[in-house]
Amino acid sequence: VKSAPIHYRIEAHDPQAHVWRITLTVSKPAKNQIVSLPVWIPGSYLVREFAKHLQQLRATQGGHEVPLSQHDKCTWQAACKTTAPLVLSYEVYAFDMSVRTSYLDAQRGFFNPTSLCLRVHGQESKAHTLELTAPEKVAIQAIYVRAEGRFDAKKQLGEYTFSDYDELADTPFECVLGSAKHWHGSFDLRGVRHEMVVTGAAPSFDGARLLADTQKIVEAEFNFWHGPKDAPPYRHYVFMLHTVADGYGGLEHRASTALIASRSDLPRKDAKSQPEGYTQLLGLISHEYFHTWNVKRLKPIEFTRYDYAQENYTRLLWFFEGFTSYYDDLLLRRAGLIDNNQYLRLLQKTLNQVLQTPGRWVQSVADASMDAWVKYYRIDENTPNITVSYYTKGALVGLCLDLTLRREGRTSLDEVMRALFKRCKAGRGNPAQAGGMTEADLLTVLRELGGRSFEAEVQRWTRSTDELPVLELLAAHGVEVRQDAAPLAQRLGLRVQDSSGSVQIKTVLRGSAAHAAGFAANDEWLAVGDWRITKLDELPLLAGTAKAKSKTVTALVARDKRLLSLKLAIPEASSITTAQLKAAQADKVNAWLAG
Ligand SMILES: [Zn+2]
Repeated sequence: VKSAPIHYRIEAHDPQAHVWRITLTVSKPAKNQIVSLPVWIPGSYLVREFAKHLQQLRATQGGHEVPLSQHDKCTWQAACKTTAPLVLSYEVYAFDMSVRTSYLDAQRGFFNPTSLCLRVHGQESKAHTLELTAPEKVAIQAIYVRAEGRFDAKKQLGEYTFSDYDELADTPFECVLGSAKHWHGSFDLRGVRHEMVVTGAAPSFDGARLLADTQKIVEAEFNFWHGPKDAPPYRHYVFMLHTVADGYGGLEHRASTALIASRSDLPRKDAKSQPEGYTQLLGLISHEYFHTWNVKRLKPIEFTRYDYAQENYTRLLWFFEGFTSYYDDLLLRRAGLIDNNQYLRLLQKTLNQVLQTPGRWVQSVADASMDAWVKYYRIDENTPNITVSYYTKGALVGLCLDLTLRREGRTSLDEVMRALFKRCKAGRGNPAQAGGMTEADLLTVLRELGGRSFEAEVQRWTRSTDELPVLELLAAHGVEVRQDAAPLAQRLGLRVQDSSGSVQIKTVLRGSAAHAAGFAANDEWLAVGDWRITKLDELPLLAGTAKAKSKTVTALVARDKRLLSLKLAIPEASSITTAQLKAAQADKVNAWLAG
């Protein structure tokens, strides 16, 4: 490819030091050109300060050094002229396995351009090209990316074109280096190629199974959003899955997704049944692919122009993350990958997670969305007490809306989603706002399709901390809801870690028995009365509470090397319950779950 006005040469320079070397050529620089590195990556709402890993920045023009001045943590200005190309060179340290930044060792290179590519201010809408290369001693085996371009294995070189900086920033790269093993497969849907690359898998991995199940998800979600004649909204899609000993997460992009999962959750060859975590992995794939529409193409109006230099606030993550979470498991059911009761068990888990979070009395989901940058993405011991997840509670808002619409018989949330996608696609005649959605758009579509205003419900469910009518709506759709005794930790109001021979307190839930007794996060729970406790489940045995009656015991804890005796009133087993869901009336449940 011919180099664009903005051209990056990215070299897997020193894999053993985890260092990429970048050379950025700006063919027509502004006088005193400004460049900066993003502080966040869209889809992950936390300021991550990618510039932390940028080093040795220098600038030249016509072979002469150009002075640089630094404006802030991530912005530089080159004292350049406009008469010759400006060349900036720098290194980026990359040793983070997550899907949000970049990684480099002798087996694998992965990066999001938000971590590696300085943004050239004022030239963002020009074409950008990226050339990916390696020194002679490092072999590039393969490059996976959804971009216009090609990889020439003989020349150890891949060259890619992007229409603007936003497209570049939204395109992660996965590179297989050296002799690393990886798995690759593909399928076509309506003439469009969908690729999957899996790195880090163990020899037992059944790639064909994962690919076939992914294809079912893609077909179900494509059919959800589109009519029988529509073409996909992209020309090529790539699923990039990196597997590790212990990990979970994903990040959505306009025509690809980067995923991380535990290799023990992968499907296995010649296995009678698949690991329990496999359904969760399919749920993750379903979630990120659903974002291809919901947040990448239909998006909060505030996201139609990303500001890479600071937080981008929206009150609508309960819609974009929550409704995506509602549909991720539901569409596994529609794709035939799980049955009704398996679906209800996943929903039950979501429901109980919300019911176990005292923060739902403190924050609405709209406020939780605004605060994502400082609360949800900065989880600590107090998080469950001060905020509610816009994923889980947002999914329940989606459920309540869907079941309310279905009960009234005029429409469903499925139709509302499609209508919103169509309504916002063109940006109301302003191409700069293409895909941008507001809460008013949702209310308008609900009124049009639902035949009445749903403003009162949407306000109450998203802007207040009132309880959602989940149980009543489920019962109306043929689901039997039973209350069961809650697990011990939940009854006490504790979240603990007790797998390595001692009971470590991670969180004390506000308003609980543990709160009243005076437990604190980071306490080590040593004894109950005269007995040593090493697992929370030993408590009924040691306290003699097997008959489910309440009882007060003395709990000995260590806090900062001091021993404290706490009076803990263990509540009755029936006092705190969890919801159990079961499909009771098959016709009603099918009418909803089978779509
Ligand atoms: Zn998501």
